[in-house]
Amino acid sequence: MAQEVLVRATRGRIVWHGPRTARRVAITFDDGPGDLTDEYLALLSELDVPATFFVMGNYCEQLPDARGAYLRGGHQLAGHGYYHERFTHLGARALRDELNRMDAAIGPLPWGKWVRPPHGSIGARDAAVMLGLGYTVAMWSFDSRDYDGADAATLIERCAPANLAPGDVLLFHEASAPTLAALPTICERLRADGYELVTMADLLVA
Ligand SMILES: [Zn+2]
Repeated sequence: MAQEVLVRATRGRIVWHGPRTARRVAITFDDGPGDLTDEYLALLSELDVPATFFVMGNYCEQLPDARGAYLRGGHQLAGHGYYHERFTHLGARALRDELNRMDAAIGPLPWGKWVRPPHGSIGARDAAVMLGLGYTVAMWSFDSRDYDGADAATLIERCAPANLAPGDVLLFHEASAPTLAALPTICERLRADGYELVTMADLLVA
């Protein structure tokens, strides 16, 4: 699908999942770039899995090579705030500043302006600001809870195909070694169950 059609279809929307009719899911990673980014990208390349990375502006400035590495890997790149502050704690002007700094750090992207609010915190006021500025507000529908100390085996069980539905958006984090260890089996089982793994942008425009 042409990028301009995708941008039109998703602009100014809050999205949690894709169409429930197609056997596809999107794997997403928050909080990068960081120490494990190169390992994540190497593994995803090996698995031939396109993913979506929600990254922080200040980390992108600290690791200026990351943007190109994500994009060369065929992944979708999107914003996750500049400092990872809760948007619900920011006034309208501070939120606009935060989003502007995030966008400036990440640079322009072909699928338009996407943002995932840090901690998934979203309220009426900040949502109105984001949607008014034309962002696609990208949430998720399946939380792996890979931030709660789970080991790889637990993550594999949680993310078993039987626990997922077509169109799901899976939430993971980039700083998690157990996630990295679990990904090959999670992806293998999903594919064995007939799921296609796509970026979130591709998931939304069936
Ligand atoms: Zn986060």
